[in-house]
Amino acid sequence: MLTIERERVVNNVKEMIIDSTKTLDKSIVDSLFLARENEVNPLAKSVLGKIIENQEIAKEEDIPLCQDTGLVVCFVEVGRDLHFDYDLSEAINEGVSKGYTDGFLRKSIVRHPLNRINTEDNTPAVIHYQFIPGKQLIIHLAPKGGGSENMSTLKMLSPADGKAGIIDFVLKTIREGGGKPCPPLIVGIGIGGNFEYVAELAKKAIFRPIDDVSPIKENRLLEEELLEKINALDVGPMGLGGKTTALAVKVNSAPCHIASLPVAVNLQCHSARKSEVILIGTQA
Ligand code: SF4
Repeated sequence: MLTIERERVVNNVKEMIIDSTKTLDKSIVDSLFLARENEVNPLAKSVLGKIIENQEIAKEEDIPLCQDTGLVVCFVEVGRDLHFDYDLSEAINEGVSKGYTDGFLRKSIVRHPLNRINTEDNTPAVIHYQFIPGKQLIIHLAPKGGGSENMSTLKMLSPADGKAGIIDFVLKTIREGGGKPCPPLIVGIGIGGNFEYVAELAKKAIFRPIDDVSPIKENRLLEEELLEKINALDVGPMGLGGKTTALAVKVNSAPCHIASLPVAVNLQCHSARKSEVILIGTQA
């Protein structure tokens, strides 16, 4: 019987939390450098410079990139050959709790939306599961900032709205968000599915590597067109103007009902913290 020891899950999640809140992936940093090089607006260039400097200081001084250390979102791929004699979600949440406590990170989760009592350890995480062939447990994790999440949107369009309707809705979201989601952004877009699934598609889109290209032609063309149009809005870094409003646009799609055209826009701020681990099952 193949399994992953509970302690391995807990410790890996804990380390992922601590590392990801303090360091940006090189691909994101490279993208910020490129944006600064290409930016023509002096203020926008200066803001991008500050964002780059901020992540350098965070790395050197071993401190969080941002005071908002996020709500943890996990996409977990579970190999079908694996067996767990414990609750995997509980183990992931224990890792989250240890990461925020031992890492001295801000705890930002309240027990109930109305009583606003802090859970004191940043749990629970939002966890999505998917089964895959084999003996791997793959955990994709992101401490997701509240500011960019708050400016994210969802709308059930009519099929007659088509591509133009999607573009209008995305641009309206970005324009109305202004500086509040802390641009430059990675814009995750879901199209299709249904009400709850389209939000998950959009969330999953911000987990895609910043430099990947959608294998689906319709999505790829939409990503290219939207990136150009978003960056022509003059929102700019932190909403202060400039042509760097988004570093990337990612579109994920799914089949949908003949009567529907669901669209969701999940905004990822420039503090695009992510981590991934692949654990291989061993004999119990
Ligand atoms: S949206 Fe992102 S950059 Fe802005 S405060 Fe929240 S985590 Fe920080």
